[in-house]
Amino acid sequence: MTETLHIVGGGMAGSEAAWQAAQMGVRVIIHEMRPKVGTFAHKTGDLAEMVCSNSFRSDDDEQNAVGLLHWEMRAADGLIIDSAHRHRLPAGGALAVDRDPFAATVTERLRAHPNISISYEEIDTLPDSGNWVFATGPLTSTALGQAIRAETGAEALAFFDAIAPIVHFESIDMSQAWMQSRYDKGDTEEERTAYLNCPMDRETYEAFIDALLAADKTEFHEGETAGYFDGCLPIEVMAERGRETLRHGPMKPVGLTNPHQPDIKAHAVVQLRRDNALGTLYNMVGFQTKMRYGAQTEVFRMIPGLENARFARLGGIHRNTFINSPTLLDDRMRLKARPNIRFAGQITGVEGYVESAAMGLLVGRMAAADLIGHQIAPPPPTTATGALVTHITGGAEAKTFQPMNVNFGLFPPVEGLKGGRRGRRDRYKAYTDRAKADWQRWLHQTDDEQAAAPT
Ligand SMILES: Cc1cc2nc3c(=O)[nH]c(=O)nc-3n(C[C@H](O)[C@H](O)[C@H](O)COP(=O)(O)OP(=O)(O)OC[C@H]3O[C@@H](n4cnc5c(N)ncnc54)[C@H](O)[C@@H]3O)c2cc1C
Repeated sequence: MTETLHIVGGGMAGSEAAWQAAQMGVRVIIHEMRPKVGTFAHKTGDLAEMVCSNSFRSDDDEQNAVGLLHWEMRAADGLIIDSAHRHRLPAGGALAVDRDPFAATVTERLRAHPNISISYEEIDTLPDSGNWVFATGPLTSTALGQAIRAETGAEALAFFDAIAPIVHFESIDMSQAWMQSRYDKGDTEEERTAYLNCPMDRETYEAFIDALLAADKTEFHEGETAGYFDGCLPIEVMAERGRETLRHGPMKPVGLTNPHQPDIKAHAVVQLRRDNALGTLYNMVGFQTKMRYGAQTEVFRMIPGLENARFARLGGIHRNTFINSPTLLDDRMRLKARPNIRFAGQITGVEGYVESAAMGLLVGRMAAADLIGHQIAPPPPTTATGALVTHITGGAEAKTFQPMNVNFGLFPPVEGLKGGRRGRRDRYKAYTDRAKADWQRWLHQTDDEQAAAPT
């Protein structure tokens, strides 16, 4: 018998990781603190509890990156996706789930597995020995959060996400926007043109402030403290403090010249910064917000250049414990400084039930492979799972790292296809066809290939 794999946290990621490892013949202990220790969002003692919405989002595996992730997990005998399908509710193209029977099924199937046992306890340290996966999610217990912080450093662990919206570059109108760093700062041309700028005249700015003030906002959940206020204010709160505040903050127009209208000084400028190495995604600098999603798209499309913006993700501020994966983890999701410890799920900086389960699937397989003496290379970045793991462990900017949903902006482009709106259907189909073929190859790689993979 191989060594035991300890998995801390029996949520979406931990449950999937346990299943995958156990199916590969490894003995697993799941350490789950509920129901002994609760969180403000979980209501039950079941594993894989859906804490809020009951949706796994789009199930379209040809035109949608989340649907593709569903497909990849199904192809890999995923427990979470299979249980979700067993308890599917009618919801058009989305995979909506009857949450209580879903969680009961996951719990039951894990309990019944001969290689799995469940220990109901809180783990509050990072153990020095043994093989561990930490999948404790956005609401990691305070004691464990402190232990992770002591190991990684305060800078590398966040307790809130303050997410600025992220836009697909190809949807930005570059006949209005331009690339320039403030005061042309930087030693190289790339640095001098690192920001994408969208100019506003006075009238547009005033209308934008009115829309921000009027927009529908979400409140914090009970138990979520609003400690974020010191560090990063939501833009609508800045606007509430004074109509000019944004013009003197993230939207200040200084040090920038609009090449489309060099003689006209912009009244305000929205800046976007590259968000991934591929240059396909840009985040709106300083635009973290508590506006509801519908309001965000409406308000942000008032910005010149973003009228047709497509958002890879919208903004938000939530209680969310996550580590700075680009600096802390290697490409096998091991803590670089302590390779006996892996992280999985939302704590690694992915966001959502589906993405978290996918990272659990991957880490469960990788950890089990290590224990049975194989090596599994990470899946290629052309797959949805591979694109996500490549992003969080390397592709993302470490300095501004914030949690990410899966989206096609994370995929390497397919060459020779039409860009823009017109070519979108063909492009997405090409992405998903390529991903499926590459995922199947990765899943069925031979033992020899696994053994030859770099460690
Ligand atoms: C308020 C809120 C609302 C959300 N709404 C949505 C939504 O609508 N849709 C969506 O897709 N995502 C939503 N999310 C994100 C969602 O929670 C995650 O995407 C998903 O559940 C993460 O999976 P996970 O396995 O990483 O963490 P979780 O599913 O949270 O699982 C982590 C598990 O670890 C346990 N645990 C924590 N600390 C310890 C410890 N020290 N020892 C032992 N066990 C521990 C917890 O009890 C929990 O069971 C929401 C998150 C929050 C906080």
